[in-house]
Amino acid sequence: MSVGASRTGRGLAGLIVLMSVFLAGCGSDGGPASGTAPEPEEPSIATTLIVETPGGGSAGDGGVRVTPAGSAFPEPVRLRVEDQRGNPVAGHPIEATVVAGEGWVTTPTPTTNARGEAAVIWYSGSDPEESEQRLGLRAGAAPGLVAEVTGRTVPPEVGVRLTGHREFVEYTPGTLPLVITASHGGTLLPGDLPDRTWGTLVRDLATDTLALLMADSLEALSGERPHLIRVHLHRRKMDANRDVEEGAQGNPEAIRAWREFHAWTETAMALVRASHSRGLYMDVHGHGHEVQRLELGYLLTGAHLALDDAALDGPDLADRSSLREMTSWTGRTPSQVVRGPGSLGDLFHHQGYPAVPSPQDRHPAGAPYLSGGYNTRRYGCRDGGGICGFQLEANRIGVRDSGPALGAFAGATARVLLDALADITTPAEAPSRGR
Ligand SMILES: [Zn+2]
Repeated sequence: MSVGASRTGRGLAGLIVLMSVFLAGCGSDGGPASGTAPEPEEPSIATTLIVETPGGGSAGDGGVRVTPAGSAFPEPVRLRVEDQRGNPVAGHPIEATVVAGEGWVTTPTPTTNARGEAAVIWYSGSDPEESEQRLGLRAGAAPGLVAEVTGRTVPPEVGVRLTGHREFVEYTPGTLPLVITASHGGTLLPGDLPDRTWGTLVRDLATDTLALLMADSLEALSGERPHLIRVHLHRRKMDANRDVEEGAQGNPEAIRAWREFHAWTETAMALVRASHSRGLYMDVHGHGHEVQRLELGYLLTGAHLALDDAALDGPDLADRSSLREMTSWTGRTPSQVVRGPGSLGDLFHHQGYPAVPSPQDRHPAGAPYLSGGYNTRRYGCRDGGGICGFQLEANRIGVRDSGPALGAFAGATARVLLDALADITTPAEAPSRGR
C-alpha cells in the first residue's frame, strides 16, 4: 500500500544506490581488482537544500516566522546543502531574495561553510500593514535546490522597546501622533567597527538622554508617549542623519544599524498615519555654535530666512519648507508657520528658550545656523505625507550642560510639542494635557 508513496519519496536515493552498485561491480576503470586501493569517488553534486524550521529541526521550507515591522526575524534562516549521498556541500553559493514584502537580507549571496551550512539574516518590511513576507532561497536550478520561507509582520507593541543588532539602535512605539528621533547622541564605540573617514564625526552631547527625557515628560503631561527611535552607536561609526553612503561608508554593520534606524522610523511614521491623520516629526540634535539659542531647521537656510515674509510666502520658498502642509492645516501663511505667533520658535520662546526662527529672532543674521538635514527632508512634509517635521538643534549652556538643565528643557519641549499637536490635529484627536 505504501509502495507508491515510498517510490515517490525515495526515487532519487534509490537510483543513486543502484548506480553505486553498478559502478562498484563494474571494475572497468583501471583500478586494482583486489579492492585494497580506494575506489575513485563519484563527484559530489548538490542535490538538496534543507531549511531549518525556527527553533531547530528541519522540515521542508520551515514554519512561519513572525517579527515586528521593520525588525529582523528573531532567528537567522539556517540552511544546509547536501549532495546525492547526504554529505554536506561546502563553498556552495546561495541566492537569498525577498520575493514578497519590502524586507531585505544582510547578505543576499552567502556561501555554505565546511558543514554545508549558511545563515541568512532577514529583515521584514517597515510597513506594519504589510503582513506577508517571503524569502526565496536558491542553491541551483533543480527543484530540490529551491526553497521558500514565509514570515509574518506584526505591528510593534506600544511601550515595548525593540533593540536592533548589538543594540546599536532602539525603537519604542508610542501612541501620540509624534515621532522623535535622536540620531547623533550615541556613545557606543565598538573596536571592530572602523571609524568613518569623512563627514562630521562629533557626537551631539547628551541628545540621546534628552530625547528619552522628552518622551518621559510627554507621558507625564499627556499620559501618552511618542514614538522614540534612538541611535546608540557613536556618530564616528554611523550617522543616521545622512544618506547611507556617507552615514555608513560601506561597513556592513553600520549599514545594518542605519537601515534599522530608518526602517523603524518609517514604521513609526506609518503607525502615526494609521492612528491620526496628521502628526509631527522631530529630530533632536545639539549644536556647538556661539550664539546660545535653539536652532529650528525647516529646510530653509539662513539666507532664505533673511528675506521678508512676502518672499517666504512665495511658492518657491513655501514649497521648500518641512512644515509645508501646516499652512493648509492651520490656515496660516508659510511665514507665520515658520516664525509667526504660535510657531514652534514662539512656543519655545515663551517657555524661556530663545529660538531662531521666531517672532523674537526672525533669522540667524549671518551667524552659523543648521537648517535641517537628511531626516528632516525624508520625514518632514515638504513632499506631503501628513507628518510635518523639523530638526531641533539645542544649544549647550542652560540646556545640555547639567542634569537639571536637561530635565527642564525636556519638560519645556514636551509642552511646546503638545501645544503644536493640539494646533494641527482635530479636536477629537488632540492629546489631552494634564488631568
Ligand atoms: Zn546632530
